[in-house]
Amino acid sequence: MLWSKTLIPTLKEIPQDAEIPSHQLMLRAGLIRRLGSGLYTYLPLGFRALRKVEAIVREEMDRAGAQEGLMPAMHPREIWDRSGRYETLKNVMFRVKDRQAREMVLGPTHEEIITDLVSREISSYKQLPCNFYQIQTKFRDEIRPRFGLMRCKEFIMKDAYSFDISSEAADGSYQKMYDAYVNIFRRCGLHAMPVEADTGDMGGSSSHEFMVPCEAGEDAILEADDGSYAANMERAEGFCDLPSLFADAEKALEEIATPNVGKIEDVAAFLKVEPRQLVKTLIYMADGKPVAVLLPGDREVNEIKLRNVLGAEDVVPADPETVRKVTGAEVGFAGPVGLEIPLLVDRTLEGLKGGVIGANKTDTHRLHFDLARDLAPEALVDIAFPKAGDLAPNRKGRLSEKRGVEVGHVFKLGTKYSLALGANVLDENGKSIPAVMGCYGIGVSRTLQAVIEQSHDENGIIWPVNVAPYTVLITVLSPKHEESMTRATALAAELENTGIDVMVDDREERPGFKFKDADLLGFPLRLTIGERGLAKGIVELKPRTEKSFEEIPADEAFDAVRDAVTRLREAQK
Ligand code: ATP
Ligand code: MG
Repeated sequence: MLWSKTLIPTLKEIPQDAEIPSHQLMLRAGLIRRLGSGLYTYLPLGFRALRKVEAIVREEMDRAGAQEGLMPAMHPREIWDRSGRYETLKNVMFRVKDRQAREMVLGPTHEEIITDLVSREISSYKQLPCNFYQIQTKFRDEIRPRFGLMRCKEFIMKDAYSFDISSEAADGSYQKMYDAYVNIFRRCGLHAMPVEADTGDMGGSSSHEFMVPCEAGEDAILEADDGSYAANMERAEGFCDLPSLFADAEKALEEIATPNVGKIEDVAAFLKVEPRQLVKTLIYMADGKPVAVLLPGDREVNEIKLRNVLGAEDVVPADPETVRKVTGAEVGFAGPVGLEIPLLVDRTLEGLKGGVIGANKTDTHRLHFDLARDLAPEALVDIAFPKAGDLAPNRKGRLSEKRGVEVGHVFKLGTKYSLALGANVLDENGKSIPAVMGCYGIGVSRTLQAVIEQSHDENGIIWPVNVAPYTVLITVLSPKHEESMTRATALAAELENTGIDVMVDDREERPGFKFKDADLLGFPLRLTIGERGLAKGIVELKPRTEKSFEEIPADEAFDAVRDAVTRLREAQK
């Protein structure tokens, strides 16, 4: 392909509206353009790279035994009513009406659609296991579309759905997808780490997210330094060994006036203790009934965990009036001793002595709180977010915090959707049972940008070989020089014949300008052909990752480039 015949609108300036490097680079390298909030056009180069990511996804999905199909992006509302998600996903779904005022939905995901299909077309255990996937545009009315392709209203997803006869069999399907994901991200040149994740509103029992560590990531991840554990913050568990630090002599509880200081930091400063020495007592409403939640002053409640522990549908912080009624004090002075509502004590408080608690009396706290003595809770529960520095669940590794972007997600779904949409099969004994499902998503367009977020330098993109829009760039220094152009086009054709894609920079521009663009676009190899070099019988070969080039005999250019490409590909198989 000749550069002069392609649309590659590179930009010298960093676009104002792009905050993170990958978004800036996608715009600067002419890969994408914004149409509106969360809506992007793929220009030819961006689209080629996207196609390459898709090809890798397809190959690995096919290899894992999944079958590709394509479902409509627009769905009748009724199918979403059957699972109840027309309500629960109301805020993310784009809803439209046809000319007969029939309500339709633009698909944010496809569990309902595939499960309905399976309920009609599959009836026997003999047809299982099966796994269907598609690569398709999804629509989500995100609260904050941002960072280019990272969070869009319209984006490309690979979604797969597995159906099995039992949960053991479903575990096998899950593992296959997990392994396929490891292969996909490796081949894309991405370091994506699998982390344990919460199953959220999807239903189901377990899930892993594939996270690309980077500063701009919207997710927090906790990772153990001994490699034993990594989990999304929403789900992460840790142990801390703090409370014994505050052990003091066996003093009795003692009231202390804390006028107008109700906030943790203020109380800590006022009493000259550390925030973590304070016991936070929070009042929540769980399905309409008040409960008190206790945790160290420097920790936050994980409401997902809290909801799970309580087995409640709806858990929200109590309003100030309820707090006053329950504790007899203004907000900020709640304490566990003397409360007449159920108490949940976070396990990080285990063994606490010498703590500070609210006195259930405005402007008053109590010192020398001893959890075992003053409260003797029957059980401790895990309801707090862990922190960096905590012990990992194996109680050996230490946790540290990272940020990451989720590029893929695998879920064990169980039977939630097969029950709702009637995807039953007859088992070996002729009994009708709901199929056990799994679902597996990859943000294809987000993955493309994540590659750039992870692989770039101050000059531009550094494409991993398997997803580069073109593998080789031939920079012709003086396109008017006939021999240069003839050689370039002949070499390009020869390389294309062996499956190596080539772009020829045939623009009438200064060499420095062309080299800058070459670095910005970041194709893995650059071959420079110039009049002076040719007079000496040489051309220059430069991998994007290297600072300097290598001179090679012009007549050996084909072999040299092919070998270099082979080496790059081998390294990323
Ligand atoms: P997130 O927490 O980032 O919103 P999600 O949990 O909603 O993601 P899934 O429903 O599991 O995502 O979708 C599968 C994959 O689709 C995600 O792993 C992610 O890579 C991608 N994805 C999700 N939402 C978007 C979006 N708005 N724009 C681009 N890609 C997205
Ligand atoms: Mg989302």
